Amino acid sequence: MRAAFMYGAGDVRVIDVPDPAVKHPTDAVVRIILACICGSDLHPYHRMPATPQGKSMGHESLGVVEETGADVASVRRGDLVVVPFAWQDNTCDFCRVGLQTSCRHGGFWNAGDVGGMQADAVRVPLADGTLVKLPVAADSALLPSLLTLSDVLGTGHHAAIRAGVGPRTDVTVIGDGAVGLMAVLAAKRLGAERIILMGRHKDRTDLGREFGATDVVAERGAEGVELVRQLTGGDGTRTVLECVGHPPAYQQALGVVRAGGVISRVGVPQYTEGDIGWNLFGRNLTLTGGPAPARNYIEELMPDILDGTIEPGRVFDRTVGLGDVPDGYRAMDRREALKVLVRP
Ligand SMILES: [Zn+2]
Repeated sequence: MRAAFMYGAGDVRVIDVPDPAVKHPTDAVVRIILACICGSDLHPYHRMPATPQGKSMGHESLGVVEETGADVASVRRGDLVVVPFAWQDNTCDFCRVGLQTSCRHGGFWNAGDVGGMQADAVRVPLADGTLVKLPVAADSALLPSLLTLSDVLGTGHHAAIRAGVGPRTDVTVIGDGAVGLMAVLAAKRLGAERIILMGRHKDRTDLGREFGATDVVAERGAEGVELVRQLTGGDGTRTVLECVGHPPAYQQALGVVRAGGVISRVGVPQYTEGDIGWNLFGRNLTLTGGPAPARNYIEELMPDILDGTIEPGRVFDRTVGLGDVPDGYRAMDRREALKVLVRP
């Protein structure tokens, strides 16, 4: 089969690899119908050292179950399923409290002997805990929106949940990438009254307005912080959803959060040091966030996609075949595309 591998910064190739097969009785093999490229895939695309053996890529997909191990009970050959961006048993103590990304027996794609999903097919460990059946046909127009359950929608939702967003909350979302726009949609869905979106790409912030942003601030840095404060009577918002992962975005979050408020980060931090002194402590701020337990949110979010209440699939603005995945990375890197759909 074909699979996208990264060999270093800017170097993605589609190569032939052995077909995946069931190795353990709890495995399934899924033939991928839709996958996509994540904003977090761009971090290694910028920084990965040259790696001669390469690294498989992709952690978001939906597809059809092709084969199941003897112990798999919840899915059968031919089922259409969504695959979350981590795999898990969904039964351990962490999973039971909705923290599947800390599963005692789970893990992440593209590590060890587990491959990636920018590929024709993938072996899914712990299939019963990981795969969720989709109640639609394989040619449904809802597939792109349902694909967002594997990561980007769940991640935006997680940002809002960790921050405690609910009715009458005011929110600042930092970042107009796909996760930022999903955070806007999630905050709106949870009843947030005011949602200020900080982003400078007008086509993206326009979509953000359609998803529920009440205000858009295109300015960055001190100027952006000042504008958000002006919009909020001088104090900033109670919750800030940081959806970028670079130090300036964290700094911006500190600038626009109200005393006593919450900064929730879901952009994978590309830094290990930052301002956690008086600026955070002195105002009784809470710093939270982390990798979203996407699996935990699927049952809650899916009905709103099925009945058309939300259309998160609108973040996909380009589609490539598997052979053109390298072009997809380039397009996202150059910001010519917001989020690229891959149809193997
Ligand atoms: Zn678990």
